[in-house]
Amino acid sequence: MARIIDGKAHAAALREEAGRRARRMLELTGVQPGLSVVIVGDDPASRLYVKNKGEQAAAAGFRSETHTLPETISQDELLDLVARLNLDPAVHGILVQLPLPAHMDAQAVLAAIDPAKDVDGFHVINAGRLAVGLPALVPCTPLGCLRLLKAELDQLKGLEAVVVGRSNIVGKPMAQLLLQADCTVTIAHSRTRDLPQVCRRADILVAAVGRAEMIRGDWIKPGATVIDVGINRVPSRDPAKAAEGKTRVVGDVAFDEAVEVAGAITPVPGGVGPMTIACLLDNTLTAAARILERDPAE
Ligand code: NDP
Repeated sequence: MARIIDGKAHAAALREEAGRRARRMLELTGVQPGLSVVIVGDDPASRLYVKNKGEQAAAAGFRSETHTLPETISQDELLDLVARLNLDPAVHGILVQLPLPAHMDAQAVLAAIDPAKDVDGFHVINAGRLAVGLPALVPCTPLGCLRLLKAELDQLKGLEAVVVGRSNIVGKPMAQLLLQADCTVTIAHSRTRDLPQVCRRADILVAAVGRAEMIRGDWIKPGATVIDVGINRVPSRDPAKAAEGKTRVVGDVAFDEAVEVAGAITPVPGGVGPMTIACLLDNTLTAAARILERDPAE
């Protein structure tokens, strides 16, 4: 049976560390790390994420603010707010919650964020810096996955890593981080031929697909470390509850099968998910520290 990687415990430890670092920064420099989260519209899932981000940032001793804007706001009004936050010395991290309403160009909005404050790591400057191995703000989810892998494995060097999924927010940055950690990296996607065989090569298998339980137990190399990023809603196991429309969350990996084969595996929920917000706090501290280094007066 695989070890179950406890993402909640790792995330709690990381949040505590962030709190300590924030207090120390305040003591040494008089600066409180500041996170500003912007949300447009009423999407309930996005609202919940944003609420959690704000609460966890405040609990760690950050200055935390949330700008809640109506769905009808124009892109120019949103860009004005981003420009103000870019100039605000009390704000070290800016996060614009995605998805944005259809009348907005998300790429243009992300591009307007000062790369030094881009704590989601989605700006092309940060993606480029990561790709060429310069210090960058790295997207929180792959950063969380890397932390879990480093905690789980003594050594990543030389391992075969397969990342299933090539999105800009998870798959690609994950592959870059694993490459920097000296893994031999394969990125698989919807056009990959014989995906099960590709996955069987992996000492480290990262699934970031968005398809419930697609990766089966017999796709996994015995002893591999499996990181399941997927968050998928499926009907409840209980037929009566399912009939009422009740759902449960599963990953991209068929957990019950994979746990019999893998060496270690993240559960869903309770694996990668909790790490994402903890890494957002970490990124905000990184941004604040770099901004202070750049201009001690800030
Ligand atoms: P995207 O939809 O942007 O990307 C999915 C990727 O999976 C694409 O590269 C796609 O390939 C690939 N894919 C789709 N179907 C297949 C298939 N049948 N075989 C192989 N590859 C396939 O998703 P994200 O990267 O944004 O998210 C992935 C999952 O992670 C989702 O479940 C999401 O909810 C979850 N997630 C979880 C987070 C967390 O905090 N835990 C944070 C972010 C995401 P192609 O490029 O060819 O289309």
